[in-house]
Amino acid sequence: MRSSTASRRVPTTSARRVPIEYSVAERISFRLHQRIHLPRVPRPPLRKMLSSVPRLIPEPVRRSRAALLVRRHPALSCWLAAFTIFGLAGASRLLVEPHYRWEPERYQRWLQRRGERAVKAALGEIGSTARIPSVRARPLTEWIGGTYDPSSLEVTFNSDHPWYDFFLLETASHECVHAIICQNNLEPPTTTHADYFLMVHETAASVLGAFITGETWRQPGFDGSIATEALFQFHRSLCDPADPKSAFAEYLTPDRVASGDIDHWTWHANLVHFGAPLPLVDAVYDICYMHSDPTEAARAIAQRFMREDLDPRDRPIYEEFERTRRQWDEAH
Ligand SMILES: [Zn+2]
Repeated sequence: MRSSTASRRVPTTSARRVPIEYSVAERISFRLHQRIHLPRVPRPPLRKMLSSVPRLIPEPVRRSRAALLVRRHPALSCWLAAFTIFGLAGASRLLVEPHYRWEPERYQRWLQRRGERAVKAALGEIGSTARIPSVRARPLTEWIGGTYDPSSLEVTFNSDHPWYDFFLLETASHECVHAIICQNNLEPPTTTHADYFLMVHETAASVLGAFITGETWRQPGFDGSIATEALFQFHRSLCDPADPKSAFAEYLTPDRVASGDIDHWTWHANLVHFGAPLPLVDAVYDICYMHSDPTEAARAIAQRFMREDLDPRDRPIYEEFERTRRQWDEAH
């Protein structure tokens, strides 16, 4: 059937112009080719993909002058493409976070901007009772995340380690609680129980800071109270002497003390941050839960725990702290 179709096709105007031998030979070769079944070699997928690229490009683009130039000057086109890619990479560098070790100065500026935003967010929750006119980022001692300076009212973030937005906000909230207590004169002007008062101050900063973080950390589909609870439980476990991951178990092990890893400053910083008796940690949590205004919560904490004449029901808290202090002192 096919051969007859072919023979009918041949006597066209153009076929008549070619020599007859050639026409016959072509017909024979055509018939022969019908019988040959060459195995189809599958194309490699990448080649297939690349070969289909020109077909994907719209016709006007394929016929444009630029496409013509690319076809005529492939080397020049490669150079131009390379310049474009490097140019875009350079521009994106301004948008991507710098690494704290590789680009310390740029990281400091980056962290400072983020720190300012975090402090502003925490202050937004507090209101006009605390003021932080200056936020900085610079390298600090390894143990410190951030500091609040009561004389300059400045908050500083340690630029010597990486920060995630959530922990930046948590530290900003913690430092803002220090600002509330100091700027509203909630701490008693005494030095007799300085460590105890400092410990209450730090506990208020951690627990009330967790509440402020929860209120401020608003993400779609995320309940801030979960964040508060997680931060509070984490802080509580660090203060719990029975917890194998408490600050006491973690830092004041005989090995670390003997190696000289724990100096007096570290010992004292750990004591006032994580040496709080659990009844105090829980009582501070209850006060924060009852007061939605952070300044009112800080005032209530100070009125109950930062006083020389502690209520008899709270004396055991003070005594337990003094016992912990002696125990840490001996370990050190
Ligand atoms: Zn603190």
